[in-house]
Amino acid sequence: MRERFDIVIVGAGFAGLYMLHRARKLGLAARVFEAGSGVGGTWYWNRYPGARCDVESMEYSYQFDDALQQEWRWSERFATQPEIMRYANHVADRFELRKDIRFNTRVVAATYDEAAKRWTVRTGDGAETSAQFVVMATGCLSSTNLPDIKGLESFAGARYHTGEWPHEDVDFTGRRVGVIGTGSSAIQSIPILAERARTLTVFQRTANYTVPARNAPLDPDFVARIKADYPAFRARNSLQINAFGSNMPRSAIPARELSPEERRTALEARWRYGGLFFLGAFGDLLLDPAANDEAAEFVREKIRGIVRNPEVARLLSPRQIIGCKRLCVDTDYYATFNRPNVRLVDISETGIDEVTPRGVRVNGTSHELDALVFATGFDAMTGTLLRIDIRGRDGRTLEDAWRAGPRTYLGLSVAGFPNLFLVTGPGSPSVLTNMIVSIE
Ligand SMILES: Cc1cc2nc3c(=O)[nH]c(=O)nc-3n(C[C@H](O)[C@H](O)[C@H](O)COP(=O)(O)OP(=O)(O)OC[C@H]3O[C@@H](n4cnc5c(N)ncnc54)[C@H](O)[C@@H]3O)c2cc1C
Repeated sequence: MRERFDIVIVGAGFAGLYMLHRARKLGLAARVFEAGSGVGGTWYWNRYPGARCDVESMEYSYQFDDALQQEWRWSERFATQPEIMRYANHVADRFELRKDIRFNTRVVAATYDEAAKRWTVRTGDGAETSAQFVVMATGCLSSTNLPDIKGLESFAGARYHTGEWPHEDVDFTGRRVGVIGTGSSAIQSIPILAERARTLTVFQRTANYTVPARNAPLDPDFVARIKADYPAFRARNSLQINAFGSNMPRSAIPARELSPEERRTALEARWRYGGLFFLGAFGDLLLDPAANDEAAEFVREKIRGIVRNPEVARLLSPRQIIGCKRLCVDTDYYATFNRPNVRLVDISETGIDEVTPRGVRVNGTSHELDALVFATGFDAMTGTLLRIDIRGRDGRTLEDAWRAGPRTYLGLSVAGFPNLFLVTGPGSPSVLTNMIVSIE
């Protein structure tokens, strides 16, 4: 028998949980399908060592319920993955969300029936559910990306992806570990993996800019000040261009109006403060090439100051525009390359020849490994949606509708797919913002 609901929500990350809560408030009968066995989405899947939020804890949380934001206590300036998972579970319990969520259930298809004006949603177990509305709360970074490297399947050691990390602890003690990729997940995990592994070999195609987090336990006085008027703090953050960071807002002054000493002082202050605020040192840091070059060179100078081997420092120094790719935030990333058990292998020119049963071969040199960590990111924005067979009016597939690139109305809906809604997909503010704010 086909179950009927007003609304089907796909995904139980922060978007799906909030959508369910709102749907109930609107009096809609709702069903959520979630592929994982629990809530939390990103934070359910990304359990790699060092996984952590880059937006400050007091801001990376829901604001729809003042009692919720008053009672929850974050312990650190930047919350760890386990703490964010505890928060997501707390929200699910507090608002009794679980009873409407079917876990371990992947949606494989959604088909629009023009005559009935309803959607039929099919799940991996073959069951069909009928709903007037479908909300794809499927996330923008929820389908992992595994590069197509020759010989990948032949590797005899253990293989991990940061975005599908095992639920139990992985013991790297005494093991020779390789990491492929140097994006945000790698930058967060490499310092910790280096402490645990016998050796750590990092395969780098593109160096990325990263700035220190300066993470620390949260100061109770700071928390008390925010909680004394949390709505006002939220309102100040919502006026920031990325919906966070009113404590250290972007400077309004363009670099060219500052003396060289003043520019230096501004960059130093942001570097010392820690976090993504670095990009706010000048009003025109993301607009004026000269201002951008100066900030980029400042980071390269820091790298040269931290990394003792000049050749390794050179390889770790990015050349691209700073802030074009999302800036990364780290704890001891560059210093990790001073450890005797850590090695950087540049694959920018040659790529990887192949993965062999015993390790990874680059430019004819074999690197023997017991474990291989893929920090190779996601099939971002469209990947998860296109894995579902979505058919709108006249049987047209979403894949066909997006053949020339994803087109949406405000990132929320797609012409020809009535009553199908997106939350954090293409066209949404996504990771350019504090995503919980954008989701709400
Ligand atoms: C490592 C990492 C760090 C991040 N750090 C930050 C940060 O510092 N600040 C920030 O704002 N954002 C950050 N993000 C972005 C993060 O994804 C969002 O903040 C937020 O968690 C997205 O919530 P969501 O509900 O939209 O998607 P997700 O959390 O991705 O949840 C989507 C859910 O949908 C489920 N799903 C997908 N397809 C199906 C299907 N076909 N059937 C059933 N279920 C399905 C998935 O299993 C998943 O649980 C980070 C992301 C990653 C990966």
